[in-house]
This record gives sequence, C-alpha cells and structure tokens, in this order.
Amino acid sequence: MSLALRDRIALYYLGVASLLALFLFIAIYGVVYQTVYAHLDSDLEAEALELGHTLVILDNEIMFANPNEWKEREHGQIEVNPTFMEVVDPQGHSIRRSPNLGDGHLAFDPDLKEKGFRDTRLAAAPVRQLQQPITNPTGKRLGYMVVAVPLADARLVLDNLRTVLLVTIPLSLLVLFVVSRSIAGRSIAPLDRVIATAERISRESLDARMPLPPNEDELHRLAVTLNGLMGRLEKAFEREKQFTADASHELRTPLSIIRGTLEVLIRRPREPEHYEEKIRTCIAEVDRMSSLVEQLLLLARYESGTRQADIRPVVLAESMADVLERLQGFIEEKQLTIGFDPLAPDTVSADPVMLDIILENLLSNAVKYSTPGQRIDIGIERRDDRVRCTIRDRGAGMTREQARRIFDRFYRVDPSRDSSTPGVGLGLSIVRRLVELQGLDIDVDSTPGEGTCFTVRFPN
Ligand code: ADP
Repeated sequence: MSLALRDRIALYYLGVASLLALFLFIAIYGVVYQTVYAHLDSDLEAEALELGHTLVILDNEIMFANPNEWKEREHGQIEVNPTFMEVVDPQGHSIRRSPNLGDGHLAFDPDLKEKGFRDTRLAAAPVRQLQQPITNPTGKRLGYMVVAVPLADARLVLDNLRTVLLVTIPLSLLVLFVVSRSIAGRSIAPLDRVIATAERISRESLDARMPLPPNEDELHRLAVTLNGLMGRLEKAFEREKQFTADASHELRTPLSIIRGTLEVLIRRPREPEHYEEKIRTCIAEVDRMSSLVEQLLLLARYESGTRQADIRPVVLAESMADVLERLQGFIEEKQLTIGFDPLAPDTVSADPVMLDIILENLLSNAVKYSTPGQRIDIGIERRDDRVRCTIRDRGAGMTREQARRIFDRFYRVDPSRDSSTPGVGLGLSIVRRLVELQGLDIDVDSTPGEGTCFTVRFPN
C-alpha cells in the first residue's frame, strides 16, 4: 500500500507517541498500584502487630490477654475503615473473630504456611488480607491470625485511573495524528508545486524553470538543483540536436558531390581520362563518408557506455611503435622526422584497443597538421610517479580559444585551412571520451605558427 507522504509522517509520529503513551501508562498505573498496595499492606502489618500483643502464647494454647481490645471501634464498625480480624487453629477453625465479621469468616488458605498477603473476598466485597502463623517459643504452629481491610476504595481509585488513562491517551493520540497530518500536509505543500512544475516541463518546454520558494530551505535547494539539472539537460539536448544536424550535413556533402559529379558525367560522353578523374573524386568522397560513418559508430559505441574499458598493463613505447608503423606511409610522404625512443620501458594501465585509437588520432593529427620536412617529437617519461606521453609538432598551431574547442564534435579550427586536409572533426572527441573511460588526463598546449603539444597522463 502506498501512503501519501503526509500520512506516513503522521503515522511515524503516531507510532512513536503510542510507544511513549504506553510507557507513561505503565509508569503511572504501576506507581499508583504499588503505592496503594504498599499502603494497605503496611496498615495490615501494623494491625497484625497490635493483635499479636493481645495474644498470650502458652505451650499448646493461645490465650487472649485483653479481650476488650477486640471490641475497639474499628473492629466493631462496618462502615468507616473497618479492620476485620480472626484467629484460627492450624486447621482453619475459628477461635476468635472481631465483632464486625458478624457471622462471616475471613478466607483461610491452608497452603499458606508463612506470612502472606492476598486479595480475597468477604461476603462478596473485595478485601486485602494478611495471614500470619502464630507459633509457640519452640516454633510449633498453634494457629494463624488473619487480618483484612476492605479493598473497594483502592480498587475504585485504580479503576478510575485506568479508565481515565485508557480514554485520554487514545484521544490524545487521535488528536496528535490529525494535527501532525495537517502540519505535515502544510509543510510539504510547496513540494506539490515543484512536482506540478516538473510535470509541466516536457521535452518540448525544456527551457521552463521552477519558481524558487521564498525561504532558503531544503525545498529552495531542491528547486535550484532541479533547475540546474534541467539547464544541463537542455544543453545536452541541444548538443544532441546539433550533433545530428552536423552528422547529417557531413554525410550530405559527400553525397551531393558524388551526385553532382555523376550527373555531369552522364550528360554526354567524355574522354576516358575525364571519367577516371571524376571516378577518383567519387571514390575519395566515398572514402570520406565511410571514415565518417566508422567514426560515428565508434563514437556511438563509446558514448553509449556499452563498452567498458578493459584496463591492463601496456608498454607504452610498444603501442606507440605499432601506430608509427601504420602511419609510416604518411610520414614518409611528408618527409617528417620523428624523435622517439622505442625502448622507453614505462608501463601504463590502459585498455590496449582504446589506447591505440587515442595514439593514432593524436599522431595522425600531428602528421596532418605539420608542413613537409618538419619534426615531431614523442616523449615518454615518468614524473611524480605518473607516466606522461607528449606528442609535439611544429605545425600550424592554434589559438587558446581554438584549442579549448578542438575536443568538441565536428569542430575544425579553420574549415578553409583544414579543407585540404582529410578529417571531419570527430577524432579528438573520440579521444576525449576514451580518455574519460580509462581515467586518464589529456591537455593541449599550442601556439599559432609554432606548433602544438598534446600531453596524456596515465594514473599510477
Ligand atoms: P580532424 O578530423 O579534423 O582532424 P580532430 O577532432 O582530430 O578532427 O581535430 C579537430 C581539429 O583540431 C582539427 O580540425 C584541427 O583543426 C585541430 N587540430 C587537431 N590536432 C592538431 C594539431 N596537431 N595541430 C594543429 N591543429 C590541430
């Protein structure tokens, strides 16, 4: 069963209050009960002591020293504070009793061999009585004295107390439940407003924001947090839209180039060289498209988080050497010099496949954006117990503002500058994602006209 929050809060209160009330009931009723009975029992003991003084114990017989004592007012009267007394032989036969007993007898318990108190009845009225053995000096039991006082008043007090407690406590609990439910309801009312606003904000109206409650309390913080969350969602949503638009644009451009080229070709017959040249253009565009689709798939795979990093020890220089070998053709084409120590011994913790993609992207960029004959330096070193890998070229470089954006999807520093260079601006966004997935750090340091240096730091 799902209860509303205010009912749950009120119920928690009720639960705690009920436990406290139970504790109070037991404490109050218990203390009064103990006090009343202690009082009655001490009265009975005093009477028994007095009665004992009137007895003369012979070897085998009980004698009464002052028979008039038995006629005293409280032993004669019935109505106000009577005390009933009876002396019986060991079998319970009455020897003497106070006049206020009339024809009645006090209840005798033959099993009670020692002094003992108990509640019994005298002619249907409840009494508290003390039964105490009478022994001669040798310890022989000659009989028992039984003293009793009425219990009706004490019972009345206890019964009234119980009734009052049993009525007032549940009533107070009920009032407490109603009051705490209404207080809880009022305290969480602003929450309802927050919920209503959140419900209004659908995918279409991501720009709506919660009104902030006037008091700077938890609800204010909740609204601020939700607004922040919605701001981030809106931005992410915008980025996704932008990404889809950019991806479609990037795919459409080569398609329209191919289409345009083929249309021109089909218009009239041409020289075989002409066909060859145009077909080459189309193949280049198809290559561009397939590399774009490949990168998009790669990005989608890593962005969706379905593929986790499989971290293991990797000798960094070996991975770098593999990548250099693959890029050897481009490096020679541009007559670049590579400064690299293939024997650097440092081992890093990384996913070998992801590391390979990162290094290939950074190195192929360094190659792409260097001018022929330049030098690229690759450094692998350990600093503060962390391995760092630097890739430094002497190419075109970029401004600080441009360097800040190069990890964004589809960002290319200067489309006119880059247009002759193959690439769609996705390589570094893939690098950034792979760096995040493996817990690495990457930063770029670049000066226009002087070159660029990428640094990747590995955790120790
Ligand atoms: P691309 O496919 O265009 O190379 P990247 O995401 O790899 O895409 O890089 C984004 C942009 O960053 C590139 O278009 C380029 O302008 C710039 N860039 C990346 N690496 C370098 C570099 N080593 N030197 C100069 N510019 C670079």
